[in-house]
Amino acid sequence: MSEDSLFDDASRRLEKALKYVSLSEDTKERLKYPKATLIVSIPVRMDDGSLRVFQGYRVRYDDTRGPTKGGIRYHPNVSIDEVKSLAFWMTFKCAVLSLPFGGAKGGITVNPKELSRMELERLSRGYIDAIADFIGPDVDIPAPDVYTNPMIMGWMMDEYSIIRRQLSPAVITGKPVSIGGSLGRNTATAMGAFFAIETIMPKFECIPEKTTVAVQGFGNAGSVLAELLCQGGYKVVAVSDSQGGIYSAQGLDIPSIRQYKESNKQMQAVYCQDTVCNIVEHQVLTNEELLALDVDILIPAALENQITEKNATDIRAKFIFEVANGPINSAADKVLEERGIYVFPDILINAGGVTVSYFEWVQNRSGLYWSLNEVNQKLKEKMVVETEKIWQISQELSISMRTAAYVHGLNRLGEAINAKGTRDFYVKN
Ligand code: GLU
Repeated sequence: MSEDSLFDDASRRLEKALKYVSLSEDTKERLKYPKATLIVSIPVRMDDGSLRVFQGYRVRYDDTRGPTKGGIRYHPNVSIDEVKSLAFWMTFKCAVLSLPFGGAKGGITVNPKELSRMELERLSRGYIDAIADFIGPDVDIPAPDVYTNPMIMGWMMDEYSIIRRQLSPAVITGKPVSIGGSLGRNTATAMGAFFAIETIMPKFECIPEKTTVAVQGFGNAGSVLAELLCQGGYKVVAVSDSQGGIYSAQGLDIPSIRQYKESNKQMQAVYCQDTVCNIVEHQVLTNEELLALDVDILIPAALENQITEKNATDIRAKFIFEVANGPINSAADKVLEERGIYVFPDILINAGGVTVSYFEWVQNRSGLYWSLNEVNQKLKEKMVVETEKIWQISQELSISMRTAAYVHGLNRLGEAINAKGTRDFYVKN
């Protein structure tokens, strides 16, 4: 990646979109800076009796459109620059999907795989103790992100409720269903991406059976999406996790691979019948090789900055759907656009997660819980409508889907900022 920070690079997308919208100066000024940034130290008693202090962050980027919303990431590379960029993306994501939320993000610099379950619980509760005054059901509502899961959300909701002395399920989303989570939240990011892909691909006259797919990242989003695509008739030829990937020109049996990974914690090209899994013919790949495969659709579903100016010329896919946040940097955007590769941006494609988080928050506040079918139907409706709107903008203005998505989000953010009065209002009247 270039010398710029992730946030500088994220802001560049905004600058590009600003040319296509007429916005008040107030809006432009407001969106340059995060509303509030919190850095905390979290002391944790480790199982061996020692004390370790972890760094935690929460950034609330903009709350003009509603309480801020965004996940919490546990990863060794978490930094304030990353959390700020992710909070910025959440602001646009919520505006693009027309959710009544602003954007936020949180994180802890930690490798959760090195912690015991009890250490992980103490760390998660410690983080909430440290940020409790910064969050709340009407203020800022966290959720899962990379390497955090429903159980961690449950511990966090419990801790917040203990501090406030009242059960507060709406303070956090992505909880286990038994304690106020929404049906369909766990599969929502993948499901949302699937609905967007199904809306886009017919525009290019692509039929699933003749469409090959490679998925980088086999976490909650990537693995579920690979399975949905497989079930939808697409030929998923390659998948990878942080250790590396597997490839088969015939297509992989994703449900078997998921089943195997679940029980063995390892990715393997297998075909399973009931509990018996046999290894099938395949090639082993690195993550870099997977990104450069000659496939129709490439799906980066891992971390940011995977496709940069260094490898953008190696990409051979025709379409890229960004399921991770920020997997392509702005320099690579330019190269991919010049090479005629269509990129469908994170702030639309992975927005299914926060959309069902919104549904969860609504259910927690109303006390009325929806069926899985209702959740998925409402998610589909939102994804299809906003994908079509962004497609329209990109066609009308002859701009990329990324810039069109920013234009769409900016229009909504601008309207909300203007509603409180701008310079034009105050000076002219
Ligand atoms: N972490 C997810 C994202 O990046 C979900 C956020 C949420 O549900 O609030 O969109």
